[in-house]
Amino acid sequence: MSRGRSAVFLDRDGVLNVYLPGDYVKRPDELRLIPGAARGVRALNEAGLPAFVISNQQGVAKGLMTGDDLVRVDAALHDALGRLGARVERSYYCPHAAADACACRKPKAGLILQAAEEHDLDLAGSFFVGDTETDQEAARAAGVGTFVLVLTGKHPHAAASDDRALFATPPDHVSPDLAAAAAWIAARVAAG
Ligand SMILES: [Mg+2]
Ligand SMILES: [Zn+2]
Repeated sequence: MSRGRSAVFLDRDGVLNVYLPGDYVKRPDELRLIPGAARGVRALNEAGLPAFVISNQQGVAKGLMTGDDLVRVDAALHDALGRLGARVERSYYCPHAAADACACRKPKAGLILQAAEEHDLDLAGSFFVGDTETDQEAARAAGVGTFVLVLTGKHPHAAASDDRALFATPPDHVSPDLAAAAAWIAARVAAG
């Protein structure tokens, strides 16, 4: 039985690109990389850890954007990262609404399990970097070994303040941004 590779799953909005509270990144020109995001992905690449985007995009189900818009935004994300020498293997998106009760919308595990199946990943030895408790719940539900919270998205003060109380289960680690999270992950993997 193959044990598979360790990987790093990345939420998109608030981790790789600037999160727009109450809105969606509907077009490529609305996409802005968070400083340090490409550096973080590059560090994962250099550590031999494949990176996958795992993201809910309910704006599609709400009719605020089309599936084609989502494809264009995703291409822009890969291009922007690629220009900075950073590579994400693949993005997995849930376009559904909460009311659709699909199996892929986080906090459900569907997108992560699909990525693991398609890329022969060892989930227990893998990491999820996210900015919300929904990310953490999805990671735990899928059996991802380690969840790292970053402060570049929905909960910028979670390291020091009451925001942390929003998390029923404390994250395994809190990093200011993806660059710091990636450095922490790479060091842990190197230490075995
Ligand atoms: Mg997010
Ligand atoms: Zn879905």
